[in-house]
Amino acid sequence: MTNKELQQRREAAVPRGVSNAGPIFAASAKGATVTDVEGKEFIDFAGGIGVNNVGHCHPKVVEAIREQAGKLLHSCYHVFQYEGYVALAEKLNALTPGDHAKKTVLVNSGSEAVENAVKVARRASGRPAIVASASGFHGRTLLASTLTAKVMPYKAGFGPYAPEVYHIPYAYCYRCPVGSSYPGCKMQCAELLKKSFIDMVNPESVAAVILEPVAGEGGFVVPPKEYFPRIREICDEFGILLIIDEVQSGICRTGSLFAIEQWDVVPDLLTSAKSLGGGTVISACTGRAELMDAPQVGGLGGTYGGNPVSCAAALAVLDVVESENLVAKSQALGTKVRSAFEDMAKKYDCIGDVRGLGSMLALELVHDKAAKTPAPDIAKALVAKCRENGLIILSCGHSGNVIRTLMPLVISDAELEKGMSVLETAFAEVAKG
Ligand code: PMP
Repeated sequence: MTNKELQQRREAAVPRGVSNAGPIFAASAKGATVTDVEGKEFIDFAGGIGVNNVGHCHPKVVEAIREQAGKLLHSCYHVFQYEGYVALAEKLNALTPGDHAKKTVLVNSGSEAVENAVKVARRASGRPAIVASASGFHGRTLLASTLTAKVMPYKAGFGPYAPEVYHIPYAYCYRCPVGSSYPGCKMQCAELLKKSFIDMVNPESVAAVILEPVAGEGGFVVPPKEYFPRIREICDEFGILLIIDEVQSGICRTGSLFAIEQWDVVPDLLTSAKSLGGGTVISACTGRAELMDAPQVGGLGGTYGGNPVSCAAALAVLDVVESENLVAKSQALGTKVRSAFEDMAKKYDCIGDVRGLGSMLALELVHDKAAKTPAPDIAKALVAKCRENGLIILSCGHSGNVIRTLMPLVISDAELEKGMSVLETAFAEVAKG
């Protein structure tokens, strides 16, 4: 079957609300290269939105899945326990920031990890409200999409949303929410959390603040080094828990195992997913043991949460992280890509901002550098041109005007060079047009 034929079948069978990346149907993938059903190869700078930091079909992950699938495919922990769940929880408890005792619940998606984190925070604190960011994305279930920023287009028409969720502006320096500039700003954006306690919500009713360390769907926005320490301080002052959503930024993407380590801040609860499973379905909420134990028996998890095959895959991913030194690889890749992006920014006026952390890097595109008018049309044209020429790259940001890279960390030099050259050619053509 051709891509076109499959696309026609898809249009008839799958609702349009399920994002449609265009008529490329993957047949197989290895490392950072995806082959479609017609045999055309694509370099993957999107990593399935960061699901594949270890690369597509990493041999150790595939082997772990094969071995586990032959032994025990499924066993809901209501019925039989299995070691993989406990082993993965132990690993995540040891690897997430903070020396305190931790516990982990395993579920199936980033949204579910976030939902479980909020349940834990509410049950442990006895408070209902959650403060989230106006640049955040936390998923598509009702509560997770309530937490997601109002500006995100995915939210339209699904209300009424869950009550007791409040949004504050994020530390988005390129478009500073208080019209100031770093470092002279004295982190007024962090003080907006405190301000929200005067004009939005009584802090005594706030269970948690939830933030991504790098706003992913929001445009790869990286807050300055003082931001999270100040947010942590404010949370502590009011007895509010801090949930850090590392669904997109976690598992080496930013040059550390978890991004929040780079602010030297310890969250109370941390969510991870995507790259944790190396392409399989798994997510986690890890947190202070006493908080995690607050919900009643049966209050957390679900039928498929921490499935034995996904646990085996995630344990293999965490082994690869160590054995292939992925933290160092992410840093080296980030340095290389950032320097190429900075060179491109000198050439193309539409690149308003180069930003990111480690290898979670992005270009914000504008029509006018001074006015910073968002250029989603340029982003769209670039994504399309790259696809035509064998490179998968994604856009993000409130206005869809940010190009982001989440390439597998195991990408070869040849794949990286080829991908960067396709991107550069696309810029040259689109900028000329
Ligand atoms: N949190 C963050 C930070 C995310 O980037 C995403 C997905 N893009 C989610 C939560 C939701 O994850 P899922 O799509 O697996 O539900």
